Amino acid sequence: MNLILLGGPGAGKGTQAKLIVSKYNIPQISTGDMLREAVAKQTELGKKAKEYMDRGELVPDEVVIGIVKERLAQPDCEKGFILDGFPRTLKQAEALDKILEELGKKIDAVINIAVPEDEIVKRIVNRRTCKKCGAVYHLIYNPPKEPGKCDKCGGELYQRDDDKEETVKERIRVYKAQTEPLIDYYSKKGLVYNVDGTKSIEGVFEEIKKILDKFA
Ligand code: ADP
Ligand code: ADP
Ligand code: ZN
Repeated sequence: MNLILLGGPGAGKGTQAKLIVSKYNIPQISTGDMLREAVAKQTELGKKAKEYMDRGELVPDEVVIGIVKERLAQPDCEKGFILDGFPRTLKQAEALDKILEELGKKIDAVINIAVPEDEIVKRIVNRRTCKKCGAVYHLIYNPPKEPGKCDKCGGELYQRDDDKEETVKERIRVYKAQTEPLIDYYSKKGLVYNVDGTKSIEGVFEEIKKILDKFA
C-alpha cells in the first residue's frame, strides 16, 4: 500500500502516519522529520535546510526530491510506504511520478486531511515535540502524562522554532500557494480521499482505516 498524506501544516499528518505505521506495518517517510534530523546533526544538508525552515519557507525542490528518491529505494519500502509532508509542490509531485515509475511502483491513495485555518493555528502553537524520539504532543488535545516529558522515551519536549505564531502564518500562506494545488493534481488521477481533520485523533483514524481497508 503506497500512500500520500496531504494537508496543511498541523493538520495531523504525522499523528495519523504513526497510527497507520502501527496498524499496517509500512514505513513513514516524513521529509520534515528527515530535515530536522539533518539540522540536529548539523550536516551540510541540515545547515542549508535550516534557513528555509526557520523562515517557514520550503526547502528547495532538488534537495527534498534527492532525499525521497534515496529513501524510496530502501528495501523496507517494498511492502509499501506513507509519504508525510512530501510532495509539497507540483515539481515534487512530478518528480515523484518519475521516481515511482523507475521503481515500478504507483500511489494507491492520497489522503487529504482538511482542517480550517483557525484550528490549524491552535494546533501548531500548542504542539510540543520530543527532542529524543520526535513523538508529537498537544498541550490541550494530547498532553503528555508528565508536563514537558515524553511518555514514550522520557525525552524533553520542546516547541519547534517554526511552530511560533509568526512563522505559522507564513507556512499557511506557502501551503495555500504551493501545496494546495496538489489536491487538484491527484484528483485528476482519481486518487484523492478527503477526510474531516477536525474530528478527534481517533475519529480521524477511523475514517482513514475505512479508506485503507480497501487497499490492505
Ligand atoms: P502535521 O504532521 O500535519 O504537521 P501533527 O500530526 O504534528 O500535524 O499535529 C499537529 C498538532 O495537532 C500536534 O500537536 C498534534 O498532537 C495535534 N493533533 C493532531 N491531530 C489532532 C486531532 N485530530 N485533534 C486535535 N489535535 C490533533
Ligand atoms: P508541518 O507538517 O507542520 O508543516 P513538516 O515537518 O512537514 O511540518 O515541515 C517542516 C518544514 O520542513 C517545512 O516548513 C519546510 O521548510 C520543510 N519541508 C518539509 N517537507 C518539505 C518538502 N517536501 N519540500 C520542501 N520543504 C519541506
Ligand atoms: Zn520521546
